[in-house]
Amino acid sequence: MHEVGVAQEILTKAFKSAADAKKITRIGLTLGNRSGVDRSSLEFAINALKESTIASECVVEIIEEKTIGYCSDCGSESYVDAFFAVCPRCNSPILEYSGGGGLTLNYLDVE
Ligand SMILES: [Zn+2]
Repeated sequence: MHEVGVAQEILTKAFKSAADAKKITRIGLTLGNRSGVDRSSLEFAINALKESTIASECVVEIIEEKTIGYCSDCGSESYVDAFFAVCPRCNSPILEYSGGGGLTLNYLDVE
């Protein structure tokens, strides 16, 4: 489960930016649907790792970001969730993707 490593990275980043805070109350993340990170595993891992840290009571908010696929044949744009998607309008394979590929720490609320 590589989500544990990903969760560790997020918390490390959060602790660094909240170095002067007494506690972290909220962590906001954007999770792309092509990031390869499973949302429930990630939540589970963060919740496990935040125990006994300044983030132990924090709420984790995850915004899911969809990937947009551009069809070079008919020019339409659509939300896709796989690398090998086909255009819903003309059925051509979609070769160009944008967004949805990452996981970002968006915001932190601290006290
Ligand atoms: Zn098309």
